[in-house]
Amino acid sequence: MASNDHLCRINYLYQLSAWHTLALARHDGEQALARAHSRTLDLVAKRTRSKLLPQLKRTLCKRCRRLLVPRRTAECRLDTADTLVVRCRCGSAKRFAVGNDRDYRTFYEKPGNLR
Ligand SMILES: [Zn+2]
Repeated sequence: MASNDHLCRINYLYQLSAWHTLALARHDGEQALARAHSRTLDLVAKRTRSKLLPQLKRTLCKRCRRLLVPRRTAECRLDTADTLVVRCRCGSAKRFAVGNDRDYRTFYEKPGNLR
């Protein structure tokens, strides 16, 4: 399978997970399908050694594979040290340093590095 096929599959699984999180799941228990799609997405990315974009990785919980949607599946707050804390319902938290360097870009976000 070509690399482009893997990326298409990852994209499709992400959209499925987002659809189940946003449109269908009204209760926490109903998000199992969305989490299953996110878990499959992660497995496909690891098995095929495909790099996930940082914008995509930031929206997935590492512990429970839940799609992090503010006020629905995650709570966001600004820490005192200019750190954005996104806390998933499972209790896991992602921290982003937003106050130090507002122009900071990851390697793949810089122009010319995206393949
Ligand atoms: Zn979680």
